[in-house]
Amino acid sequence: MIEAVQLAKRYDKNQPYVLKDVNFKVERGEFVFIVGQSGAGKSTLLKLLIREILPTSGTLKIFGQDLRLMPERRVPYLRRNIGMVFQDFRLLEERTAYENVAFAMQVTGAVAQEIARRVPAVLEMVGLGDKLEARVCDLSGGEQQRIGLARAIVNRPSLILADEPTGNLDPDTSMEIINLLRNINIRGTTVLVATHDREIVDRMQKRVIHLEHGQIAGDQKKGVYARAF
Ligand code: ADP
Repeated sequence: MIEAVQLAKRYDKNQPYVLKDVNFKVERGEFVFIVGQSGAGKSTLLKLLIREILPTSGTLKIFGQDLRLMPERRVPYLRRNIGMVFQDFRLLEERTAYENVAFAMQVTGAVAQEIARRVPAVLEMVGLGDKLEARVCDLSGGEQQRIGLARAIVNRPSLILADEPTGNLDPDTSMEIINLLRNINIRGTTVLVATHDREIVDRMQKRVIHLEHGQIAGDQKKGVYARAF
């Protein structure tokens, strides 16, 4: 599903590499944490994966396609197959839970009947079946991130990329969100979570790729946050 070979990125010729010698593979159906301190290169890696930025050298393949060779016109199709979850939720504050999720379907040209059928079902799945008409600004952070998850999955992507999805949430709410991501993963979607939330990583016992100064410092099958030296 994802393959990085000698992947390297620097934002400018005069600046140091922020990712270097990065090699890893993620198979279909995996759940992977990308951990590392602030500045380690986690967000850069996610931005490369949605082709917001291009690698400086090396290869990055996703769904079998080399992102450096992908024509611009293919990028929307790539992004349609990736669900994104953000630390700051990025929802339409004045709109309802239903409208936020429906909007993600409307932009892909989905028909009204399909939207009306699928949106309540995904909101039900994330535990918001009784909050369809609630406005985002009246909901708690945990509820808002549930909408973020519903929006990420409504178009049935093969891959979910979550950038610090629990960064603005308390520990209990964070566990609920991670458990939802795990349920999404169990249903077959590949999930990649960039985080520095030690507690959730240690409790989940999933694969952990540890980035340190832009390089892979560890890649453990059932990992914990702290790197084993
Ligand atoms: P993380 O997500 O792990 O905190 P980032 O990928 O955001 O790490 O950042 C890695 C490094 O790249 C940092 O040193 C950061 O300052 C630098 N960086 C990130 N974005 C840019 C940019 N647009 N231009 C220049 N440098 C950047």
